[in-house]
Amino acid sequence: MRYISTRGAAPLLGFEAAMMTGLARDGGLYLPESIPHLTAAEIAAMAGAPYEEIALRVMRPFVAEAFDSATLSRLIAGAYAGFGHPARAPIVQIGPGHFLLELFHGPTLAFKDFAMQLLGRMMQAALARSGGRVTIVGATSGDTGSAAIEAFAGLAGVDVFILFPDGRVSDVQRRQMTTPDAPNVHALALSGDFDDCQARVKDLFNDHAFRDRVGLAGVNSINWARILAQIVYYFAAGTALGAPHRAVDFTVPTGNFGDVFAGEMARRMGLPIGRLIVATNHNDILHRTLETGTATPEPVRPSISPSMDIQVSSNFERALYLAHDGDAAAVAALMAEQKAGRPFAIAPGPLARLRAAFASGRVSEEETRATIARTQAQAGELLCPHSAVGVAVAERHLGAAPMVTLATAHPAKFPDAVEAATGIRPALPERMADLHRRPERVTRIANDLGGLRALILERIGQAA
Ligand SMILES: *Cc1c(COP(=O)(O)O)cnc(C)c1O
Repeated sequence: MRYISTRGAAPLLGFEAAMMTGLARDGGLYLPESIPHLTAAEIAAMAGAPYEEIALRVMRPFVAEAFDSATLSRLIAGAYAGFGHPARAPIVQIGPGHFLLELFHGPTLAFKDFAMQLLGRMMQAALARSGGRVTIVGATSGDTGSAAIEAFAGLAGVDVFILFPDGRVSDVQRRQMTTPDAPNVHALALSGDFDDCQARVKDLFNDHAFRDRVGLAGVNSINWARILAQIVYYFAAGTALGAPHRAVDFTVPTGNFGDVFAGEMARRMGLPIGRLIVATNHNDILHRTLETGTATPEPVRPSISPSMDIQVSSNFERALYLAHDGDAAAVAALMAEQKAGRPFAIAPGPLARLRAAFASGRVSEEETRATIARTQAQAGELLCPHSAVGVAVAERHLGAAPMVTLATAHPAKFPDAVEAATGIRPALPERMADLHRRPERVTRIANDLGGLRALILERIGQAA
């Protein structure tokens, strides 16, 4: 299986190289050259199988040249062994025909663990073979950073630098980044907002000399391996609820479009997904783009679902590429407009294809709080604010097919918002109950590229 860039001007890579690189050198995102198709019989055989077994069957065709089945199976087993639930991604019913897919039983209590735990192990296995080293640099609004630090702490051949906006992540999120004490992880509190963090990371990737010198690798959801790992739970949930014999709908709380894009991949692999619904908070560029056909950025407004406070949704580029039938030049032209900060209009053909693939909805802060309260009162289920955005949109789209809403984080990760809505302060799971007593380790940095470069070189022992 070879991987191609959505902008068509970077070399085709195998799975391992695409995983180690993250972002393509032409600024594009990698996608498989062709999408493997599973037969109805193969899909039916997944119903009720252990999560690890489904993961092996879904991912094997994408990674076969990098990892044989035995190796992949061992990496998958290690990735999910630390989850706090034997089903890994359990389903609970919250209303007639409406199910919640709980993706928050991993070590940092958000769905990011599903991909990051596996990515850490796959990267380490690849580095052990090649004897190489990489430097991972990532920006986070909270959940990606904690999942990455947890996954890569203590791994040989890897240094991890995570930039987060100082003072703008939740207490639990910050502590999950600052309390692991492995010497290879570096939590950096940047004086600025999330967009500043993301911009500095992009600057490092665009500095090709620096990129090659330190072996820069990306673990944001631009990395194809992360999307790949997220396809699995669509199959697990879909087959548990009757696929391939009946279609299943999914609603996905969306920021960078990675999670919902994994759903689109599951559909193209043969899972009968009826509707795939994008749920946004008041930072609603995706909803407006699908409605109007034009992507018009607006300033980010903070919300109680901060992991979705995004206006530049990087994985939407992958959906645009598929909607343009692989016309990389057309995608590159749209992305040039986006980079210049200008609105871009999607042509009628591709827009019709996007609308056929994705429905969407936006939820106000008020509705999010009301949904948390109502779901607790009626179903006894505490939702995090992101999951509540999903549930609110899903409730507008309930139909004949079972509806699955992805619960993307544990309520205890956002205790203030949940308590304000319900009066109940959700407790951290037993295994991390001492989080607030562990010592923190963090480096405060200015929003300055030169200083950041120097700090990274010094920490990895390459200072001039
Ligand atoms: C990352 C995240 C999202 C958004 O997922 P995308 O893949 O970026 O669309 C939603 N909810 C939570 C809790 C997250 O951490």
